[in-house]
Amino acid sequence: MSTPANRLVLLGSTGSIGVQTLDVIDQLDDIGQTFDVIGLSAGHDSPTFRAQIDRIKPGYIAVASETDAARLQIDYPDYTVVCGDEGLIQLARLEDVHLVVNAVVGAVGLAPTLSALEADKAVALANKESLAIGGDLIRRVLNQGAGSLLSIDSEHHALYRCLGDRPIEEVARLILTASGGPFLRTPIPELNHVTPEQALTHPTWSMGKRITIDCATMVNKAFEVIGAHRLFDVPFEEIDVLIHPDSWVHSMIEFVDGSILADLGPRDMRIAIQGILCHPRRLPTRLQRLPIEQGLRIDFEPFPHERYPAFATVLNAAKAGGSAVAAMNAADEVLISRFLNREIAFTQIAAGLQVILDRWDRLIRPHEMTIDLASLTRTDRWARAQAQQIAH
Ligand code: NDP
Ligand code: MG
Repeated sequence: MSTPANRLVLLGSTGSIGVQTLDVIDQLDDIGQTFDVIGLSAGHDSPTFRAQIDRIKPGYIAVASETDAARLQIDYPDYTVVCGDEGLIQLARLEDVHLVVNAVVGAVGLAPTLSALEADKAVALANKESLAIGGDLIRRVLNQGAGSLLSIDSEHHALYRCLGDRPIEEVARLILTASGGPFLRTPIPELNHVTPEQALTHPTWSMGKRITIDCATMVNKAFEVIGAHRLFDVPFEEIDVLIHPDSWVHSMIEFVDGSILADLGPRDMRIAIQGILCHPRRLPTRLQRLPIEQGLRIDFEPFPHERYPAFATVLNAAKAGGSAVAAMNAADEVLISRFLNREIAFTQIAAGLQVILDRWDRLIRPHEMTIDLASLTRTDRWARAQAQQIAH
């Protein structure tokens, strides 16, 4: 039965997380845990999106451009079709919807996250850029209203599982794991010459392009550390990252008494997605199990900072505060697309971020008074322009 409590909107339904979320919803339906998908959004009109609309019949549809929206409205006259940033916000605020799953990629995800929380929705957040860029704004809305937020990231989901109901005062440190990405063993001088194809081949996870490159530079891990800092209110000094090439251990918590709890599981995002959709309940899945009987080696290595300079740059931006992470995120999006277009080398992503952070510190920071969505958007635009100019 459809009630407001089980109605949801899925933003970014055609992406890696979006498609897996719909799969989880199907599997949950088989065990009597029904979600009613009222709204779907995608970047553009595509056969995948149309197949989803035909199957799910969501009622509300959003795409980025007006042209795509107009075409969809002609083919789906009975549906409400909206577009652009405003369209995402409209879906995020729909009445009689309890849950908003935000799985869009990039800074465009922040406004719908804030809008959903302002409208007192529960937000299941895959869009880690929201937390990284707008953590303070999100915290403010959470403190003021009845909205709630849980992160779908596998590391954060693991931390929720390890912490359970324990008070945060019992935590000595959070330990996030990182696979190391495709270049963990590549000699550092060769990183100048790696190709987009090599960078897009992640050893353990299959994901969207942006996050895959972010795993190779560790910008992704920096965003996850910032997210953990925001979600659990733990200082940066008490959050560590360890390399764990096999990605079986999704993250760990070391408690004040020296005991460590780790969350292990298959490398399948659907576990975290289901865990967050049904939080705090654990429900059965048909997903593959971790083959522990066949023998499982679990290796950890210290985090090699010299290999991943962008990690420290993005964390320094978070510590600087203001709109610095918005600058990093926007610059990163542009630098990644320039790398994928073979305009710049892989190592120029990290180098470019450092240059732009230094410029932000000199040019933007001294004039920043208040931080709101408008000021973050201004910095976003500024950083994109800067990143376009980073030389070959
Ligand atoms: P994908 O690139 O696979 O999908 C992104 C989705 O966002 C697609 O539905 C895309 O639509 C849509 N989209 C892109 N641009 C816009 C736009 N301007 N306006 C509206 N919608 C847009 O990304 P992922 O699924 O990999 O990642 C989604 C988010 O989840 C990211 O923030 C990522 O960091 C995070 N995440 C992903 C994980 C993973 O395993 N993939 C793990 C943990 C977090 P279209 O298909 O039409 O382009
Ligand atoms: Mg992750």
